[in-house]
Amino acid sequence: MHYDILIVGAGPAGLILARALSGKGLRIGILEQQAQQAIAEPAFDGREIALTHRSANTLRQLGLWQRIEQIEPTAFSQLRDAKVLNGPNPLGMVIGHELSPRSELGWLVSNHLIRQGAWDCVQDSIAIHQDITLLTGQKTGRIWSDEQAAHVTLEDGRVLKARLLVAADSRLSTTRRAMGLAADMYDFGRSMLVCCMLHQKPHHHVAWQWFDYGQTLALLPMNDDPATGMHRSSIVLTLPSHAIDPVANMAAPAFNAEIARRFAQRLGSMTLASTRHVYPLVGVYPRSIVSRRFACVGDAAVGMHPITAHGFNFGLLGVESLSKAILQVHAAGQDFASPAVLQRYQREHQLATRPLYLITKGLARLYTTEHPAARLVRDAAVQIGQRITPFKRAIAASLTGMR
Ligand SMILES: Cc1cc2nc3c(=O)[nH]c(=O)nc-3n(C[C@H](O)[C@H](O)[C@H](O)COP(=O)(O)OP(=O)(O)OC[C@H]3O[C@@H](n4cnc5c(N)ncnc54)[C@H](O)[C@@H]3O)c2cc1C
Repeated sequence: MHYDILIVGAGPAGLILARALSGKGLRIGILEQQAQQAIAEPAFDGREIALTHRSANTLRQLGLWQRIEQIEPTAFSQLRDAKVLNGPNPLGMVIGHELSPRSELGWLVSNHLIRQGAWDCVQDSIAIHQDITLLTGQKTGRIWSDEQAAHVTLEDGRVLKARLLVAADSRLSTTRRAMGLAADMYDFGRSMLVCCMLHQKPHHHVAWQWFDYGQTLALLPMNDDPATGMHRSSIVLTLPSHAIDPVANMAAPAFNAEIARRFAQRLGSMTLASTRHVYPLVGVYPRSIVSRRFACVGDAAVGMHPITAHGFNFGLLGVESLSKAILQVHAAGQDFASPAVLQRYQREHQLATRPLYLITKGLARLYTTEHPAARLVRDAAVQIGQRITPFKRAIAASLTGMR
């Protein structure tokens, strides 16, 4: 089978790239290892995604925002302000929306709704343009490329050919590895427990990042529960990996009391309102994200620690710059997978992502080091940061995606 572009991975990045390329005369294939039902009806996965305004605009342009609102009218929750706390000190750094030109720093939306919206949009594109083929329940075998095409062998022996192969198969991308691209990986030795909880006290749409001693907590403000009207947040607890399972496996009443205690009762009583999900924390930065007739997008191009909430935002940025480059060159009747086009994409994407990847890695290490000197530096950084408005404005610009 021959494609112009073959995308490995039908996660948000792969599906949204297909949507962005559809309708321009390209034959697009998407290869996904999971069964079709798992991507057509994605299950709640605990991730609440903070979107920059730039990402929100991209989602609107591609029709995803509207699709998600059709699925769940209260899906998007305002992220008005953000608060950073260290240790037991109740005085933290507040990044207010007034530091940006908008009335909120960004938006929050559940990852499974992004996946559902992306799937629905791809179905719309297929219905109108018939230019996307989905191959689900298929794992890749041998992968290689030559001057003319990239080749992917499937487990059943079939060989797919494409003018450009795109890896959108997550941070530990087997496609990237098969193409021989090296990546720097950093295992933080921590795992993240995420779930949705109802709570007594309001959050006022303020997100918290609390670098407490021995644990890191985050609160992502969701809209009040439409069924009960109760206050609702996505809760993120980061602990050394060996300590996370006992909390994740507690019976619900004990878990509720444990999380309320860990949040020092600042939200009042708390009640579990979803399944719980655990993610090991590994940052990945590939040394290069392109090769002959090959490019990476999404987490395959940069695997961020979630602390600065930029993985999906960077994924969208990559989709935007790769699809623009491909469509421009394709419209001019030239080879959209030429080394010059791919190198330009790599330069642009790495320039945009590398600084925050390194800053995030440094922050995550500093704020999980329990040495007394590190605790002092952390507290000083938060307190000094609170007094330096240009610094806070820079963080606000990074959160909103508006510079
Ligand atoms: C707890 C948590 C919180 C987060 N919060 C934020 C946030 O606030 N803001 C933000 O911007 N980002 C956030 N992120 C990051 C965001 O979730 C990811 O960046 C995004 O989901 C990655 O999408 P993707 O499509 O690249 O990869 P994935 O969603 O991992 O999709 C990859 C797809 O490829 C398929 N696949 C894998 N291997 C193969 C193969 N060999 N063959 C075929 N198919 C394959 C998989 O089945 C999967 O469907 C968070 C992440 C976590 C874990």
